[in-house]
Amino acid sequence: MPSLAITRRVCVAAFATFVTSLPLTAVHAQDNVLNIYSARHYKTDEALYANFSKATGIKINRVDADDAGLLARLQSEGAASPADVVLLVDAARLWRAEVGGLFQPVKSAVLEKRIPAHLRGKDAGNGSQWFGFSTRARVIVYDKQKVQRSEVDTYEKLSDPVNKGRICTRSGSHPYNLSLFGAMLEHNGPAATETWLKGLVGNMARAPKGGDTDQIRAVASGECAVAVTNSYYLARLMRSDVAADRTAVERVSVVFPNQASHGTHMNIAGGAVARHARNVPAAVKFLEYLAGDEAQSHFADGNNEWPAVSGLKLTNAALDSLGNFKAETIPVSVIGMNQVRVQQMLDRVGFR
Ligand code: FE
Repeated sequence: MPSLAITRRVCVAAFATFVTSLPLTAVHAQDNVLNIYSARHYKTDEALYANFSKATGIKINRVDADDAGLLARLQSEGAASPADVVLLVDAARLWRAEVGGLFQPVKSAVLEKRIPAHLRGKDAGNGSQWFGFSTRARVIVYDKQKVQRSEVDTYEKLSDPVNKGRICTRSGSHPYNLSLFGAMLEHNGPAATETWLKGLVGNMARAPKGGDTDQIRAVASGECAVAVTNSYYLARLMRSDVAADRTAVERVSVVFPNQASHGTHMNIAGGAVARHARNVPAAVKFLEYLAGDEAQSHFADGNNEWPAVSGLKLTNAALDSLGNFKAETIPVSVIGMNQVRVQQMLDRVGFR
């Protein structure tokens, strides 16, 4: 939707010129539009937006782009940005936006009550604030023919000599990995984390490439024996209409790492009110909608994530089959904060 920024500027100019003569209904019509910049890359989300519009009468204009593209666009648009709401996936990216001052404070009793404190962004000192609406686990998948579960039941073991030549991974600098490594830095400290990352590089079956689903497929095809993936990619293959996807996922086993210690690394998808939002009431209303039972259930049933709000009844057999597990509880904002130090470590150990 490249014309959105231009449209906004034209609208603002028109509004300034004709405001005194505008009938009240026209002003209200303007209030009934919400501009969302979204980096959620999940087709099933269409229902979320449609349901919100149906329930509130607020029309949604959406700009879909990858996270880096959205952040760059918000930065370059500055105060002229038409964005009211920003949706991002991954704590590392939300943290980047928070530090960049791209969000604004939100006053909402609903969000305070519904979203657990450890899934919210801490104010970085500039009033930027965000909320996690769904969670995903970063799990280990392995070839059950070649690997013992006990060899891969912690993230730490990924650097053990027993896993030499076994590991496939996406880029170390991808936010999903930066967040996992940022969590490891929090749990184990800098020296142990850098040693661990070095061991991980030494255990790779191939140079990092592809996304999480590619790693699952590489384990299934025998190209490697161990990989790390976000849980919803695995659940998506389990629920796929394509037989080859289900066959692939049947060839691998999954482990929720670190059950005997700090729990499995969790990440989030979240959202915020944009710094220069025009329609703040609608933006807050949308975030509150995302925290409601309907949207929260949708994250699970539609996109195989776990809701941020606990205690909801879900109907997702794939998630059910993954079972209960101990999840990490460190604040997600800390994970974001650690990513700069992690990136320096990756550069030092040659993890591309
Ligand atoms: Fe993803």
